[in-house]
Amino acid sequence: MVALIARENLSKSAAAAVDKLLAENPTAQSLNPYCKDVPADSMAVASTWADDVRRGEKNGPWHYVDIPLYVTATSGPLDKWCDPIGPARPDGTKPGCVTSALEYELKILRDPKQSGADRTNALRYVIHFVGDMHQPLHDSDNEDSGGNCTAMKFFDEPNPWNLHAIWDFKLIQKDLTTRKVTQTSYAKDLNVQFVAKFRDSHLDASDPVKWAWEGHELAVKTTYGALRPAIAIEKENAKTGCDAERAKVTALGITIGDAYYDASITPTREALAKAGYRLAALLNATF
Ligand SMILES: [Zn+2]
Repeated sequence: MVALIARENLSKSAAAAVDKLLAENPTAQSLNPYCKDVPADSMAVASTWADDVRRGEKNGPWHYVDIPLYVTATSGPLDKWCDPIGPARPDGTKPGCVTSALEYELKILRDPKQSGADRTNALRYVIHFVGDMHQPLHDSDNEDSGGNCTAMKFFDEPNPWNLHAIWDFKLIQKDLTTRKVTQTSYAKDLNVQFVAKFRDSHLDASDPVKWAWEGHELAVKTTYGALRPAIAIEKENAKTGCDAERAKVTALGITIGDAYYDASITPTREALAKAGYRLAALLNATF
């Protein structure tokens, strides 16, 4: 969705450069994409590649920055929760977080001395990480792996969902179903709705650290803050772990219903739109 909104706002030269890179440097045939339900747009297709290679590349932490939920600051450096990009550790895992990884990949994308293949993969990472950062649970953590270690009811669905999945796709899918629209027309609608409000203002286009803080604020206020009953905010050094958090949250018997959906859907739509404009601004400044 973020890629589709960005597409609506690319300059002619950026759109041509992006399409050329992606056409000339296809992904490996052996790669079996997890996300199949993708509109026929080269950027949308490229947007989920980073998740497909995450395990093999051992760079999972590049997709998020775990600012603890108890943090009350709303700005400042993220060094405490973000490793700089550096050589792989002895076990092969790569240090980094979403803000350092975005900066690193943007540099590769913008370096004409890099190979076309490397610049194209950098483009795939940039598209993906801008999207990830605008999902508040990629900027926040409550000892629960960014909401992954939770379980709650989603309306009347029989099986529980974790909060991370609810913010990755459940809220958006419900919005699509309610409006009876395709992904492509949803993206176009969001663009029309928010273009005047966000495209040329409130963007902080070259400051991803600000975007991470924005996501963290949304997590405090709404993603966790609107849950009833509330999940306790874990204190520093709680180190409770995934199983304990999931058990704790399950015992609360939280249901995501109309009140939570109503509180969350506007900020979700706004985050998609902002991510699209920010991604477009990065690419327009690149090409
Ligand atoms: Zn990701």
